[in-house]
Amino acid sequence: MIVVMDLQAPEREIQAVEDVLQEYGYSCHLIRGEKRLVIGAVGSAGSEIPPALETMPGVEKVMRVLQPYKLVSREMKPDDSVVTAGSLRLGGGTVAVIAGPCAVESQDQLRATAHAVKAQQAAALRGGAFKPRTSPYAFQGLMAEGLAYLHEISAETGLPVVTEVINPADVEMVAATADIVQIGARNMQNYPLLKEVGQLRKPVLLKRGLSATVEEWLMAAEYIMAAGNYQVILCERGIRTFETATRNTLDVSAIALAKQLTHLPVIADPSHAGGHWRLVKPLALASLAAGADGLLVEVHPDPARALCDGKQSLTPEHFVELMAAVKAILPALGKTLCTGSGQ
Ligand code: PEP
Ligand code: MN
Repeated sequence: MIVVMDLQAPEREIQAVEDVLQEYGYSCHLIRGEKRLVIGAVGSAGSEIPPALETMPGVEKVMRVLQPYKLVSREMKPDDSVVTAGSLRLGGGTVAVIAGPCAVESQDQLRATAHAVKAQQAAALRGGAFKPRTSPYAFQGLMAEGLAYLHEISAETGLPVVTEVINPADVEMVAATADIVQIGARNMQNYPLLKEVGQLRKPVLLKRGLSATVEEWLMAAEYIMAAGNYQVILCERGIRTFETATRNTLDVSAIALAKQLTHLPVIADPSHAGGHWRLVKPLALASLAAGADGLLVEVHPDPARALCDGKQSLTPEHFVELMAAVKAILPALGKTLCTGSGQ
């Protein structure tokens, strides 16, 4: 249920409403939008609406949320949420590009990539220290050593860091380095992990599961928000279909739909969607045309020698081309590039 409050309602009126809702078994989430102040009241199915609620001071109206996801829905918050991490800004009319290697492989590899993407106005650096690999024999990431390199090179370049956590027990350690904590496609429905990152007070980038419906994806985001962390970024990274010519199928419709169903920023990962570097630029442009607020792109200084996802990684030269193409279409989309790092 949504309780729309008078934008000027004093703290004591908000508190009084929350007290009544809590008495009826609801948990309350205060959401301050640009034009509305709402209390998102989440209860169990069939929870009774407190009878006097609508007449309480400061209350404008009370509405039921029809979608199964509540805090995530646009019904709850009509205006776009903007998620920031340092100089990175996602949502609300800008486009930000997050770029870097699939996996952190060495200090030199990460440093070379970070400087190359920064020179092209990437707004943040990505790189996995913990890699969820299909094969147990494949490179699993440098783990703590990888986090140390991310920390160091983030400080050197000023680029905020996006890196994945795969184990609930490692959330605190990863969050100490990450400016944005990534939940990978394989873990989208790992509920203990979602609850754990819900305890953080820093952004979480939630990738869509390989075979997840849009509703399942948004429900996964609801887990994080229900735990009190409202800084969630959704990432469409392609889904599994009958098509085998591409690694996954980029679900462009899901980007457009998610932008309608939720106020959260939605970005796209054209690298994992297409699975080939030649597909990255066209899929990136299609994603932005469909309304994506940003891109997550894999870049490697020497893709042929990459320990992970080399085939889909752009060289720094290809990344120059991608950024030129992105910049060229932004005016038509009425958006500007979030350049980060004060560039
Ligand atoms: C990644 O970002 O490198 C990754 C493992 O992505 P996904 O979870 O989308 O497969
Ligand atoms: Mn990858």
